[in-house]
Amino acid sequence: MQKNIIWDLDNTLYFETEEYKNKLNEVTALAAIKDFNIPLDFATATQKVKESYMTYRDGLEFFAREYKIPHQKLYTAYHNYKSELVDMIEPYPNLLEKLQSLNCQQYVFSTSSKDICEKILKHIGLYNFFKDRFYSVEDFNTYKKNESSNVYQKLCQTIGISPHECIFVDDSYSNLDFAKQIGMTTIRIYYRNNSAKGMTFIDSAYKGIDECIKGLKETYGC
Ligand SMILES: [Mg+2]
Repeated sequence: MQKNIIWDLDNTLYFETEEYKNKLNEVTALAAIKDFNIPLDFATATQKVKESYMTYRDGLEFFAREYKIPHQKLYTAYHNYKSELVDMIEPYPNLLEKLQSLNCQQYVFSTSSKDICEKILKHIGLYNFFKDRFYSVEDFNTYKKNESSNVYQKLCQTIGISPHECIFVDDSYSNLDFAKQIGMTTIRIYYRNNSAKGMTFIDSAYKGIDECIKGLKETYGC
């Protein structure tokens, strides 16, 4: 059976350093304070972003719930700030050549906005490779990929392949759960240690992108 790889983008096709992650938390807090006048000081708001990730696997969700702000508006504001951080990303060396060595059709599916996906793919040298084959949750009128399997179903319909022909690769296990529900093969990339060990919706886990590419070739025939 022909296999297709669907890559997550953030912290999968590039590595989010602690510095970068902290910046993302800070701009999430800034977007909430500046664009929606949320009455929290910067340090408290930044702490709330972290708590929101822990509780909802989404940094914006706390603000959406607590202050009744439409998630879509928070999402847009956050990405305006995130856009300024793209230059901080250090591309993996030779990733294009490594992806080209895989014998599978490849796509990107990201929680980041379409504009940011394009900007990041250009920055990391993969835009031409994924041109017309990268999708944002925005393409399916949603803002998360860890809420329902519907968005994975819609993605498959759009690209015209069955979920059973897809290998979905993500660093965030909460996304893999929903991909698995519709029958995708699921791979988790982890960095320090495999914190999702034993989760039955994950078929394979690899440490870092190079091990993952090796596994895709050796175990999945890509
Ligand atoms: Mg990710």
